[in-house]
Amino acid sequence: MSRTDCLVLTCEHGGNRIPRPYAHLFHGSAKLLASHRGWDRGALPLARLLSRELRRPLLAVTWSRLFVEANRSPTNRHIWSDFTKGLPYEERRQILEQWWRPHREQVERAVADAIARGHRVVHIAVHSFTPELDGDVRNADVGLL
Ligand SMILES: [Zn+2]
Repeated sequence: MSRTDCLVLTCEHGGNRIPRPYAHLFHGSAKLLASHRGWDRGALPLARLLSRELRRPLLAVTWSRLFVEANRSPTNRHIWSDFTKGLPYEERRQILEQWWRPHREQVERAVADAIARGHRVVHIAVHSFTPELDGDVRNADVGLL
């Protein structure tokens, strides 16, 4: 990175929390929430380490992607999981406003502010990969997407 670059550091799947008002939707699903489908194990500690070492703020999400997928746009049907896609429209709209939108707006603001200051933005979104997906073994240590 050059001096004019600005690093925006995010972690969208850093946890598997479910907000208390919606916990009943996930009753009996602790094992799934603890799996890679629920979150990116190890991503948040790595993102926090990068944040400390690079002295950049971290914008992280710690609720489960099975609640609402922070890495998707509201128009993407995969923003909702099997647990939440059947909720009434108004309830999903409220989840977007209260949970999804604040992170999105923080990231958009960080990028816009850096650009307004004349910087080029480098966005690192820290994720982890499950070592096996649908029978395919992945043996990469790091992936750049
Ligand atoms: Zn992820």
